[in-house]
Amino acid sequence: MFVKYTLPYSYDAMEPHIDALTMETHYTKHHEGYTNNLNDAVAKAQVDKDIASLLGSLDEIADPALRRTIRNNGGGYYNHNLYFATISPDGGKDPSGAFGNLLKSEFGSIDELKAKLSAFALGQFGSGWAWLSANKDGKLLLSSTPNQDNPLMDGKGYTPILGIDVWEHAYYLKYKNLRGEYVKAFFNVVDWDEVAGNYEKIRK
Ligand code: MN
Repeated sequence: MFVKYTLPYSYDAMEPHIDALTMETHYTKHHEGYTNNLNDAVAKAQVDKDIASLLGSLDEIADPALRRTIRNNGGGYYNHNLYFATISPDGGKDPSGAFGNLLKSEFGSIDELKAKLSAFALGQFGSGWAWLSANKDGKLLLSSTPNQDNPLMDGKGYTPILGIDVWEHAYYLKYKNLRGEYVKAFFNVVDWDEVAGNYEKIRK
């Protein structure tokens, strides 16, 4: 049974960057839907794996319709757990310490990292996600994926440590068609300590 990440903050905690109604709808409707649909589908498929292993081995699900349902809703479940866990009302401070230094040496500066990740977020045509991912060797990767896909699904060994949801449901109530304004605002709530923790977990 997959359980949604429990929010440690209120729906209005990300104001004014992400509005309360968007947060509530996103968490109680969209994330809820992905989670319930995933649980139904894994029961039908009779698979028992943790979510990362499941998304990394979708080819093993023989039935194509069930495979697609688990891809879409398992991705939605994983991606939103990550999304809600890596934003914080105390976020927005640039990453510091060893992880901050690593990002600076990899991307030139934190602003440059944000610019490159934003380019993936803006360049994703239609619904999808922009990602900062890492592999076991500590290598970092920026990318984007459509729909609820994520880097776990392509089997190249990368695990997302930060994701920007660029589905319209993530920003349309407040930002309408202005995805760039939402992406700019998103960086004001990113909890880089959490992202650094995700990076450390992958390296173990
Ligand atoms: Mn979403």
